[in-house]
Amino acid sequence: MSHPAIDRLLQGHAAFRDRWTQDDRDYLRQLASRGQSPDALFVGCSDSRVIPELLTQSAPGQLFVVRNVANQVPPFDHADSSVGAALEYAIGHLHVQHIVVCGHDLCGGVKAVAQGADVRELPSLHEWLAGVRVALAELPQAADAEVHLRAAVEANVAQQLDNLLTFRDVRAGIEAGTLHLHGWVYDLAGLSVRVFDPARDDFVPAGTLIKGGRPTGGGPLSRP
Ligand SMILES: [Zn+2]
Repeated sequence: MSHPAIDRLLQGHAAFRDRWTQDDRDYLRQLASRGQSPDALFVGCSDSRVIPELLTQSAPGQLFVVRNVANQVPPFDHADSSVGAALEYAIGHLHVQHIVVCGHDLCGGVKAVAQGADVRELPSLHEWLAGVRVALAELPQAADAEVHLRAAVEANVAQQLDNLLTFRDVRAGIEAGTLHLHGWVYDLAGLSVRVFDPARDDFVPAGTLIKGGRPTGGGPLSRP
């Protein structure tokens, strides 16, 4: 039985393969034989508009990704084994040097909590959003709804950075200088990223922190 949406996915994969260069093929085969050695663990939202590899122009092998509703990292004493397993594997086995928690403006999960929506008819979602409720518990109400939602998204990212510190391996990596945490917010409408700057205790436009030149384009894989 044919499903147009699934046919589109398979046709998309075929089109993707058609654009590969020989270098792309060599790179993918090397990845297959050598195994992965990603630079970062990326914790993002499941939202279909926020695609980590696309937004960061990362090739296969560069990002180890966890995506869930509202980019949550439940704290260790309330560990979610999916997120916890990815975290342990990324640090302990893959030796990633960076963890990026990336939220996004207009996040449905954060918005539901910020606006006090009742989602108990979706019991798993209601339970999952407990982490967002903690993040927003002490957030002052802004007069402007849009400003409040932006602040809520940022507070949610900041909370997940705090939650990461409840994991022993994260604390050990930071103390050893081998692991670094980063908080980002992707602005869907503005097409830009805000980055948490600990020195200012605030999110600032990513452009102010970028070091070095911008990467140049290549084949569809944007290989390193
Ligand atoms: Zn979201």
